[in-house]
Amino acid sequence: MRSKEILKMVAGFRRFREKYFSGEDALYHRLMTNGQTPKTLIIGCSDSRVDPALISGAAPGEIFVVRNVANLVPPFETPTKGVHGISAAIEFAVENLRVENIVILGHRQCGGIRALMSGQQKKDDSFIGRWMELIGPARDQVLAKHATLDFESQCKECEMEGIKVSIGNLMTFPFVAEAVRSRSLKILGIYFDIEQGQLFELEESGEQFVQIDVDREATNPRYVLPE
Ligand SMILES: [Zn+2]
Repeated sequence: MRSKEILKMVAGFRRFREKYFSGEDALYHRLMTNGQTPKTLIIGCSDSRVDPALISGAAPGEIFVVRNVANLVPPFETPTKGVHGISAAIEFAVENLRVENIVILGHRQCGGIRALMSGQQKKDDSFIGRWMELIGPARDQVLAKHATLDFESQCKECEMEGIKVSIGNLMTFPFVAEAVRSRSLKILGIYFDIEQGQLFELEESGEQFVQIDVDREATNPRYVLPE
């Protein structure tokens, strides 16, 4: 017998199918015929509270998504060394889909960052520990710069620093740097504060995050989406 959770997923798929597969002009008929042409790659966290498609209201086919613990981008390594799932997805998005934007989407209360900051996961003991050491220098910087802050505030600082490190790492990929230079690929750092229900964007200088006025931006005629 199927579990309640799986039955709920099947019921959810039924509603999804009604919405996107029915009628002459069903969205999936178009996506099947034309293929996908998403304009944005979102690199987000696996946390169940920060689903990029749900929080951005994206329809199928609109965003290309990579999720991992703490929305990290590892630095570029040559493809002949090791196996690189995140790097493969970035390469496909930039080289094949030719996305116009890459968003690193961080968030408040990130469990990966908490593990890093608390030192719970020793770096050689676990996958998470080793993975999070990708931004070990960000943790060290936060601890040095914000030694007097409480633990939660230090985590918040590190969640934001982690986004900056990932953006720096993205630029170590030759095809990303080339696309930024030659075809104006945009790289954005966004922070979702799940406690306040607010979004913050990394300023162009790359220093600070500033709150996005979502009411004003969403009604900007340049960006209003057709119904
Ligand atoms: Zn997270």
